[in-house]
Amino acid sequence: MLKHKKEAKEAIFKIFLKSKGLNYTCERKFVLREILEATKKNEHFSVDNIFKRMLLKKKRVSKSALYKTMPLLEDCNLIKKTNIAEDHYIYEKTGKHNIGHLVCLTCKQIIEINKNTIKDHIDQICAKKSFKIESHTFEIKGRCFNCLKRK
Ligand SMILES: [Zn+2]
Repeated sequence: MLKHKKEAKEAIFKIFLKSKGLNYTCERKFVLREILEATKKNEHFSVDNIFKRMLLKKKRVSKSALYKTMPLLEDCNLIKKTNIAEDHYIYEKTGKHNIGHLVCLTCKQIIEINKNTIKDHIDQICAKKSFKIESHTFEIKGRCFNCLKRK
């Protein structure tokens, strides 16, 4: 089943690239596979994380190729980008049931806020104001337990 899902995502990316007149190159394939591996485990990752992981696996992808591939994966809705601090972006898979993040400003750790915990409350507020939600980002910035302990 998981393998099937992975192939489906590869197909989505291939079709997307074709529609843009782009090829499914080896570099793009390596990037996609590394990202699918990260998203399978529900990870949050930065471009640097992915670059380091590919280096360890001796996958030859230039950083510039990686930086060019990320927006393509975003455009075809396989991943989404969140800005968690100035010039610091993380990616995660789309369609997850989280509503936002707790972001540690010291170690950049990301903790997900589960949708179920506050969704009802947000729905209630919006219903009261007759406000239709189109999208939301919800970032709570602070210090995580480990970073507080270290001080
Ligand atoms: Zn921290």
